[in-house]
Amino acid sequence: KTTGKGIQISTTSIDFEDIGGQNAAKKELQEALDFLIYSDRMKALGIRPLKGILLSGPPGTGKTLLAKAAAHYTNSSFLAISGSEFVEMYAGVGAERVRSIFRRAKECARKEKKSSAILFIDEIDILGAKRGSNISHHEYDQTLNQLLVEMDGLGTEEGIRILVLAATNRAEALDSALLRPGRFDRSVKVDLPDKEGRLAILTIHTRNKPMAKDVNLEKIAQETFGFSGAHLESVANEAAVFALRNNVEEITMLHLREAVEKVMLGEKLDRKPTD
Ligand code: ATP
Repeated sequence: KTTGKGIQISTTSIDFEDIGGQNAAKKELQEALDFLIYSDRMKALGIRPLKGILLSGPPGTGKTLLAKAAAHYTNSSFLAISGSEFVEMYAGVGAERVRSIFRRAKECARKEKKSSAILFIDEIDILGAKRGSNISHHEYDQTLNQLLVEMDGLGTEEGIRILVLAATNRAEALDSALLRPGRFDRSVKVDLPDKEGRLAILTIHTRNKPMAKDVNLEKIAQETFGFSGAHLESVANEAAVFALRNNVEEITMLHLREAVEKVMLGEKLDRKPTD
């Protein structure tokens, strides 16, 4: 559901099992999330609380899904906002919006009777670009500063814990202040899926669709190098549309191949063999 200011509070539950491939990313993320789950034990040992995790990688590879699965795994409330939502013409509005989303995260967890909230900021590079660089300007700097202030303050009060997950396609453009210890000091790479990953993703997105006996998803996985999870989801969907148009009840290999072709043409995919 969408509330004001483009903040999305998700109530649908996504599990790590709903995410195909990305085994290394899932494992790294789960390990980091254990810091949140066992935060009392961590605190007793004097371990610095985990405040931020950066998910970096190309579009459509499942970063948003991973953030949602993280909320499910840690039994946290989930709030999402895009970096673009902080961009305003008037000075101070972006910074105020940052303050308000942290407040909202706490309120939301309280309402849902959870002890933690995950705040997902997509396209963090929009507000966290290197300060003083040509894509950054004064207004974004204030917004970024406010984000750093909020993150520095996390964990100092009792009660609801907030973990910020941020996603970017351009990790190299981020201001180094964001990556310092106590901020986004953990980074998880989310790459395009390899063949095995593509097969897993295709399997997930066809599991509720009627598939003909001739369908060999392994072959489709082989033929789709360079495709992201989002592209593969489109392939499954488009194949079903082709089946509908042909007035048949099952998706065949031909429909899948037509769908691959369509997605490829639509995206002008830069298909470099990755595996
Ligand atoms: P962006 O950088 O564009 O925000 P993203 O990395 O956050 O992209 P998602 O929004 O998580 O990508 O993925 C978009 C859609 O693509 C998902 O809703 C899902 O249908 C599909 N998808 C992407 N990756 C996977 C995956 N690993 N397993 C299953 N489905 C996937």
